[in-house]
Amino acid sequence: MEFNLLPLLNCEGKQVPLDLTLEIAPRTGDNFRILGPVSLVGNIINIGGSIELNAKGQAELILTCDRCTEEFSMTLPFTVEERFKKEDPAQGEEPNPDITVLEGNTIDLAELAYDGLALQIPSKILCGEDCLGLCPNCGQNLNHGECGCDTRTTDPRFDVLDQLL
Ligand SMILES: [Zn+2]
Ligand SMILES: [Zn+2]
Repeated sequence: MEFNLLPLLNCEGKQVPLDLTLEIAPRTGDNFRILGPVSLVGNIINIGGSIELNAKGQAELILTCDRCTEEFSMTLPFTVEERFKKEDPAQGEEPNPDITVLEGNTIDLAELAYDGLALQIPSKILCGEDCLGLCPNCGQNLNHGECGCDTRTTDPRFDVLDQLL
């Protein structure tokens, strides 16, 4: 969703509240699915000529557990904090890496929300801290009950796998 910053850019101190629901398109390589629209609440303000976006969002996601490989849903809160500036033609000035230089007068809130959300996805996805995972012997999901295998006699290479997951 394109948001026009022009009214803000020309008016120092101006603030615009945000209360949106965004449709966020999936991207190739995602290890999550977004269910339904994503909420984003906050504000955009012109402070000293730079634009600050501060917002909190919430998304319903479907994730796949790294340990037991089952899908589960969760509500993921995330934040979007960005600063923007119109390109400054001043020579010899060090660019501030925390400030995005605007191309044009719009920002894409859906894209920024996606980035904020994707940052919150843990590197190790677990359906629960106490997920028991799969039996290394027969592959049964141990969250659904014991399979009856004697796991102490399994190939020790699986122990290494267990530690990784
Ligand atoms: Zn799991
Ligand atoms: Zn088993």
